[in-house]
Amino acid sequence: MMDFSDKHIVVTGGGSGIGASIATAFAAAGGTVSILGRRMDPLEQLADKIGATPVICDVTQRDSVNQALATARADNGPVHTAIANAGSAKSKAFARMSVDDLNDMLNVNLVGVFNFWQACLADMQAAGGGRLIAIASIAGLKGMSNVSGYCAAKHGVVGLTRALALELALSDITVNAICPGYIKTPLVTGAIEAITAKTGKSAETVANNMIAGNPQGRFISVEEVASAALWLASEGAASVNGHALAISGGEI
Ligand code: NAD
Repeated sequence: MMDFSDKHIVVTGGGSGIGASIATAFAAAGGTVSILGRRMDPLEQLADKIGATPVICDVTQRDSVNQALATARADNGPVHTAIANAGSAKSKAFARMSVDDLNDMLNVNLVGVFNFWQACLADMQAAGGGRLIAIASIAGLKGMSNVSGYCAAKHGVVGLTRALALELALSDITVNAICPGYIKTPLVTGAIEAITAKTGKSAETVANNMIAGNPQGRFISVEEVASAALWLASEGAASVNGHALAISGGEI
């Protein structure tokens, strides 16, 4: 089993879904974990369960990110692994999208990663190593209809990852993106409800359409994404850099 006992791992959007699973996995592997998010209730509930530090943070606001990192550092020391997981997906036909719709998607999914990684970088440079990991999406690797803003933002995350990996390559800091296929988290359950309400299709039909693109014909589990994050953060993955790792049953 991988051991993170001397490492501080920070996860954004850590109170639910994939982020909660990642935080749980690192805590189980001995890591000191801080979970950042907008709502204190779910953060506190999970933090009590796994022994993490909950911190309020809106990743779209630089001041909020800097403040949250200062709190996390005061409790748990310099950041070794920064997992930019917070994100949101809104679906709208391109013709009906406003610039605000696009900016919303870019702000939370791309600018949020930029703000968070940049706030963590100095710790890693001072330590002579670290891990920057983003939870992107298969929507960062291929086009998907009715989510062009989300796709653009997630493609941006993959581009940021590849560029920063080169820029930091000599510093023993690796930069990687995980690109999951559909997972039944609150984000996807909400999308299923919205599509059901809009189209009149049953929730089962909508869910089946989502997994039709996965050659394994199933939803991915949050634990499968957490397991990839653990590996990317481990010593054994020191040469894995600038990678966009699809966790998708072969869908890309
Ligand atoms: P989720 O809704 O459970 O988690 C998203 C988390 O991000 C929530 O805790 C939310 O409160 C937080 N968040 C949203 N905006 C924020 C902000 N401005 N500041 C701080 N926190 C904020 O959904 P999830 O599926 O666990 O999503 C996690 C990540 O995985 C997202 O980046 C999402 O795009 C990505 N992803 C999800 C799927 C999927 O099928 N569920 C697939 C691929 C990628």
